[in-house]
Amino acid sequence: MRGLMKTARGVGLLELREVDDPKPKRNEVLIEVAAAGICGTDIHIKYDQAFYTPPVILGHEYSGKVIGVGEDVTSFTPGDRVVSPATAYCGKCHQCKTGHMNRCTAKDKRILGTSNANGAFAKYLVVPDYIVHHVPKGVSLEEAALAEPFACVVHSVIDKTPICPGDVVVVQGPGTMGLMATQIAKSMGAGKVIVTGVTADNWRFDIAKKIGADLTIDVQSESDPVGIVNAETDGRGADAVIEASGACVACTQALDFVKVAGHVTLLGVRGQPANIDLDPIIVKELTMSGTWGTLPSSWVTTLRLMSSHKVDVSPLITHRISLREWEKGFELMESQKAIKILFVELE
Ligand SMILES: [Zn+2]
Ligand SMILES: [Zn+2]
Repeated sequence: MRGLMKTARGVGLLELREVDDPKPKRNEVLIEVAAAGICGTDIHIKYDQAFYTPPVILGHEYSGKVIGVGEDVTSFTPGDRVVSPATAYCGKCHQCKTGHMNRCTAKDKRILGTSNANGAFAKYLVVPDYIVHHVPKGVSLEEAALAEPFACVVHSVIDKTPICPGDVVVVQGPGTMGLMATQIAKSMGAGKVIVTGVTADNWRFDIAKKIGADLTIDVQSESDPVGIVNAETDGRGADAVIEASGACVACTQALDFVKVAGHVTLLGVRGQPANIDLDPIIVKELTMSGTWGTLPSSWVTTLRLMSSHKVDVSPLITHRISLREWEKGFELMESQKAIKILFVELE
């Protein structure tokens, strides 16, 4: 088979390379990839700005069909539709034993498409059975390919953001994560979700409205975004703010948008220190949370939300292309002209 491989450490160094078809070991499931999404992390790996162990086939957001299983695998049979997280946690370290598998500290752990394990930008991949989840009936394999980023946002919003029915929630940044956060906040009963972004995000605002946003604010062209949020909340401010843009200036604005004793969740990674006045956290008695990756339960919740049609992720899929066109896909991601790009032909 051919896979999109990061061949060595450095900038670029991506190519479609011929490799042997993988064979499942005792506890592994062999999966034929149905759809695989390009993630910001893949772009970071392309530019040598992330952790990875080359040579490695990229791709950690995927869905597929089981076509073979190792001799110890009992929960899956050929034909099963499946998804999985990227990281095969060890189950033995302190973090795993205390329920924080997303922060597993095992040094040589397998991370699909990143380190010690080839990923899903290829026709086949092998995954240890204990991290694999069945895709429920009624959820398409294209939708299921968005389960990985969705589960990250489920962990951030459902596990870590106190949202009550009727609450006003501000989501900053209408990228993939922000749009997913919008859907999840709505599914938790938020009365109003306000999505903020910059002028270049205007086309994303249309998608935000389609998937449930009640109001969008262009924080570049509006002179008083905080005034707009206050007008929507009887002058009190948002009950919760989810920062999904990764912009430093958005952090300051989050503390302005949120009400007294409200909550701010940081979902976007800045990659640099933010120059920010922390006093509002004290004087407004705010709580803040950050999250990283997914827990096994995030996947269960994600697949239940999808199968119960509490969320519809299909409007987030803006492009479907073949793996042969990978350069075009990366270019669309880098120029921010796409939300989710799926490779749907992986020959
Ligand atoms: Zn990702
Ligand atoms: Zn561990």
